[in-house]
Amino acid sequence: MNCPGCDAEIVDPEGGKEEVLRVCAECGGLTVELADLKPLLLHNNLPGIESLGGRVVKDADTGVCPTCQVDLTLFEGGDRQQPEFYEVCEECGCVFIDGDSLDPELEPEKRVASFFSKFAAAVKKSRSGP
Ligand SMILES: [Zn+2]
Ligand SMILES: [Zn+2]
Repeated sequence: MNCPGCDAEIVDPEGGKEEVLRVCAECGGLTVELADLKPLLLHNNLPGIESLGGRVVKDADTGVCPTCQVDLTLFEGGDRQQPEFYEVCEECGCVFIDGDSLDPELEPEKRVASFFSKFAAAVKKSRSGP
């Protein structure tokens, strides 16, 4: 499959094991199926993705789902100074997180968990006002 962020091909590691989290070696972007993301969030004491409360950004310049070939939908959380973004395919529900939003020091699962806790915090902060 190709990376929604930079279109580089993401190759699964040898051995044939399906990777749950696919990290792009080019841009560091990470793709995960919704079905795999749910237990990961739960495991890290985070709310489900539908309770995170981001808002849809219309006509955003997003990537294309590697599976369905449709444009991804951009969700934004937080305020103008510190916006957080992730992209979702409305067809299959897979989620793409830009490499710039992720901490490469962490292992992939923690990278996702730390991104979504950052996202949830940003949404909460923007709701409580300045
Ligand atoms: Zn990439
Ligand atoms: Zn899709």
